Amino acid sequence: MILPTYDDVVAAAARIAGRAHKTPVLRSRTANTMLGAEVFFKCENFQRMGAFKFRGGFNALARFTPEQKKRGALAFSSGNHAQAIALSARILGMPAVILMPQDAPAAKLAATRGYGAEVITFDRFKEDREALSRQLAEERGMTLIPPFDHADVIAGQGTAAKELFEEVGELDHFFVCLGGGGLLSGSALSARALSPRCKVYGVEPEAGNDGQQSLRSGQRIKIAVPQTLADGAQTQQLGHLTFEIIRSKVDDIFTATDGQLVDSMRFYAERMKMLVEPTGCLSLAGAASSGLDLRGARVGVLISGGNIDLSRFAQLVSG
Ligand SMILES: *Cc1c(COP(=O)(O)O)cnc(C)c1O
Repeated sequence: MILPTYDDVVAAAARIAGRAHKTPVLRSRTANTMLGAEVFFKCENFQRMGAFKFRGGFNALARFTPEQKKRGALAFSSGNHAQAIALSARILGMPAVILMPQDAPAAKLAATRGYGAEVITFDRFKEDREALSRQLAEERGMTLIPPFDHADVIAGQGTAAKELFEEVGELDHFFVCLGGGGLLSGSALSARALSPRCKVYGVEPEAGNDGQQSLRSGQRIKIAVPQTLADGAQTQQLGHLTFEIIRSKVDDIFTATDGQLVDSMRFYAERMKMLVEPTGCLSLAGAASSGLDLRGARVGVLISGGNIDLSRFAQLVSG
């Protein structure tokens, strides 16, 4: 197992320069008062295709050989990774096939097709998506890019935190949304290099705390598909690579309930005029409910994405 390093994040940053947006870092007095801290929001909801996943997807596809590029990329995803691979493939001029759950949010299915990818749907409660995608990749000679357990994906995701630390300097605490751990492990590589004393935390849905269980027990724990509003973090298990990085570089993992995610969605909309998807709210919800004493601290909050149907958003925040 060869783990990516901060050098790989630096190389990824050069590869995505001019392709990915350098997203803004926003501040909010209300958030500062709420947490008693100085809070820096890294807004990947403003990234291309609406989430940080463009960074890792583009970095992985940009490294294809000419032969791989001719055959194209294949991905399985509950949403944002699909769009990231579809858009990256279009930019790089290669075909893409995306395997998506039938019940993925309508906006995500439509957006993926809109980027020109071929979409194949499956039943995520009955079929094994990994086996299905491996079979498809073999049949068509395409290169499978997994959503998080891949060195180039992890390195690409780490570029968001790299930008944050380069813009605002060192932090005391850094909260990152956690599904399979691509974003968290990449962020940890950047944090350890650019702000070595910063505590780095993952935040996952309370109903799907496999990461927390894994970090605490020292082995990768697998759970049933969790039922949560955070559809981007319904993963059952951390990856091999992501777990190794998280276990050596991440300080703790917190959880957030669906109610806390909705509170954060409402906060972002009302106070910061931003649309953030439930999964993207994990970091703030975790910071607010962690029980840590953040008073006077410099705190980073990584907002991972903003893709949600407007009707769904309205339903959640008015409930
Ligand atoms: C994929 C995703 C996550 C989780 O990222 P991992 O790298 O799987 O941990 C969090 N938020 C959003 C918006 C996502 O799309």
